[in-house]
Amino acid sequence: MVILSSQPKRRIIMSDLSPCPLCKSAYTYQMNDLLVCPECGHEWSADQKTEDLSVFVVKDSNGNILQNGDSVVTIKTLPVKGSSQSIKAGTKVRNIRLVDSDHNIDCKIDGFGAMALKSEFVKKA
Ligand SMILES: [Zn+2]
Repeated sequence: MVILSSQPKRRIIMSDLSPCPLCKSAYTYQMNDLLVCPECGHEWSADQKTEDLSVFVVKDSNGNILQNGDSVVTIKTLPVKGSSQSIKAGTKVRNIRLVDSDHNIDCKIDGFGAMALKSEFVKKA
């Protein structure tokens, strides 16, 4: 006979490990006194507070971390709001600026001017 409990045991994984302060990955693990992020390789002290929300990470379509001033290449043709033209796949974009928002790359593209791109549609050049 199977007894169904009205309050099934919830499996709670007791983890007080902080998410990665760089990429916000929850798959962090502890190694000695350090916390390690398997996603981006960041290591930090376990008792360090990670409340600095101004830290953000922008990754390209391959998961590479982008930095201000990097050059990227678009990986697909991107329609441009308010323009009949679109940005073709393979367009090189120089000197990007990272922004903590939905469209997380600010840049200038020849023929288009100032643009906001999503990092998932580019790769590091
Ligand atoms: Zn990380």
